[in-house]
Amino acid sequence: MSTDKNITSVLKETRQFPPQTEFVAQANVNAAERERLAEWAKSDPDGFWAEQGRSLHWFKPWDAVLDWTNVPHAKWFVGGTINASFNCLDRHLAARGNKAAIVWEGEPGDTRTLTYQQLHREVCKFANALKGLGVGKGDRVTIYMPMVPETAVAMLACARIGAMHSVVFGGFSADAVADRNNDAQSKLVITADGGWRRGKVVPLKANVDAALEKSPSVQKCVVLNRCNTAVEMKPGRDVWWHDLVADASADCPAEELDSEHPLFILYTSGSTGKPKGVLHTTGGYLLGTSLTHKWVFDIKEDDVYWCTADVGWITGHSYIVYGPLCNGATVVMYEGAPNQPREDRFWEIVAKYKVTILYTAPTAIRAFIKWGDQHPKAHDLSSLRLLGSVGEPINPEAWIWYHNVIGGGRCPIVDTWWQTETGAIMISPLPGAVATKPGSATKPLPGIQAEVVDKQGHPVPAGSGGFLVVKRPWPSMMRTIYGDDERYKATYWSNYPGVYFTADGARQDEDGYIWVMGRVDDVLNVSGHRLSTMEVESALVQHPKVAEAAVVGRPDDLKGEGIVCFVTLKQGTNPSDELKTELKAHVVHNIGALARPDDVRFSETLPKTRSGKIMRRFLRDIAAGRQTTGDATTLEDFAVLAKLREDDE
Ligand code: ATP
Ligand code: MG
Repeated sequence: MSTDKNITSVLKETRQFPPQTEFVAQANVNAAERERLAEWAKSDPDGFWAEQGRSLHWFKPWDAVLDWTNVPHAKWFVGGTINASFNCLDRHLAARGNKAAIVWEGEPGDTRTLTYQQLHREVCKFANALKGLGVGKGDRVTIYMPMVPETAVAMLACARIGAMHSVVFGGFSADAVADRNNDAQSKLVITADGGWRRGKVVPLKANVDAALEKSPSVQKCVVLNRCNTAVEMKPGRDVWWHDLVADASADCPAEELDSEHPLFILYTSGSTGKPKGVLHTTGGYLLGTSLTHKWVFDIKEDDVYWCTADVGWITGHSYIVYGPLCNGATVVMYEGAPNQPREDRFWEIVAKYKVTILYTAPTAIRAFIKWGDQHPKAHDLSSLRLLGSVGEPINPEAWIWYHNVIGGGRCPIVDTWWQTETGAIMISPLPGAVATKPGSATKPLPGIQAEVVDKQGHPVPAGSGGFLVVKRPWPSMMRTIYGDDERYKATYWSNYPGVYFTADGARQDEDGYIWVMGRVDDVLNVSGHRLSTMEVESALVQHPKVAEAAVVGRPDDLKGEGIVCFVTLKQGTNPSDELKTELKAHVVHNIGALARPDDVRFSETLPKTRSGKIMRRFLRDIAAGRQTTGDATTLEDFAVLAKLREDDE
């Protein structure tokens, strides 16, 4: 990852949205409190984190808050013992036993609600079942499931007995499952016959059967009957979930685990290359997720909170399961696609369950914009009070649309920057404390020392682009790449000794706001200037006819790199050469001649990871007329690449 040269920022965005008075009055954290927390964290970090850590239930208190002697391997809450499942369940039974923990809706419209009491019971039974299958402390368990409550049950059951889960997104292929089984040396796979997606059953068990041909470490497979489809059950290896739990005892005390006991492995999205098996441990991760969930989402006892991510991504781990359940929140979970049966499914769900907090991704927001305002406008969204975004930089125009059309101009937007590796949100507005600016994740949270630096590691002047780093360890940071500690050190800790390198570019403005400009790998190099692809994309998305854009560089003898734009138009707009010319002029007008696109290509879809992030590395190959290279296992749809090549003739 090159940090040779700084990045030039060209995006000009000056709109500001201060927190509204009514929101501030009820906020978990207001501006004065945020200031106090930030100052405290700076002057006495150990004291600050110790106080936050006391919000969790510990079986045995820690001896030291942080051990950072063996850099880059941090230990948090050293000597303390804890259990994540206990914190998410048992702790709530007295006061919230009958409160809804998970409100679930299947794609076909079936629904279920699990109270904290019921969830606790399911988890205890399944944890005993796991023990019966020979799974114990430190064993790895692959979870390859649809978005159903049992997925959370399986995760929490592993956590309860100290087994590490490795959740593999249900959209991945058999090969991806096998790779992850082998990398983690999983002993058990938990799956379902299938899951509903766009009106069809995704054949999860059949994929697992193929994967297990190539996963010698896996001994057993538990199968949930979700869709009533016929599956092959291999005698001696495969067992039905319902058979296992039928006679299992509902009494399963949570293991007292070391604070640093591994909680899970999760593979990154693979936007930039081969996915990394990120390892998180118990105490610090649980603190990071629950604390940020309380601060950033301003969670209250009666909120109905919906994070639309899949549990297979870090967002699902931290903000569907561990953070919200640790806080005793009511979580909405939806199984299927946002356009099944129609493009208004999300808005129907918001209205039906009176969702108060909605957390989704820019890729979804851009799809909603493309589908048209009539869908959200057909539903009552007045229950919403707070909106969140995660996964990619949000283009300012998409932010404004989200704010107006979904939030009715009244809901603050928290644009949350973080990574699989950081475990929890790092940079985000606190909605009752920080004025927002569309496209900026605003400021690091109290206790998080994120900075934008040049290649020497010195802070860059306001307005200049640089590299986003974190200068002090934080509780929910990853501990290593599972099975490859050398890669851990080389990837994150070799650019700046003792400092965590995020591999994202950013700039900080005169108010100290951070604007994440995307991955350092995606930066364009035009006539000696390093430009952010995201900024050129945001200029394109400003055009009323554009729904989504991906910008990449292609080799150019004169300029170093020329700019190639792949553009998806809004529904009902026809591509034309005039429009290409108009879009080039639009970029020049908004950014300057420096960013004049050399080529604009229209495309109905863009290559994305299965979590919906634009994969520019493939577009770079297409723009340069090269064969596609590098790991493609996380690409959502191979047909998209073939189509783009065809368009290229
Ligand atoms: P890989 O590391 O395998 O290439 P990935 O980086 O996409 O995949 P994730 O951990 O899911 O895997 O994503 C984290 C990245 O997503 C961040 O480094 C950043 O580039 C981007 N990102 C997430 N949230 C935001 C945000 N709010 N603003 C800007 N970028 C974001
Ligand atoms: Mg990454």
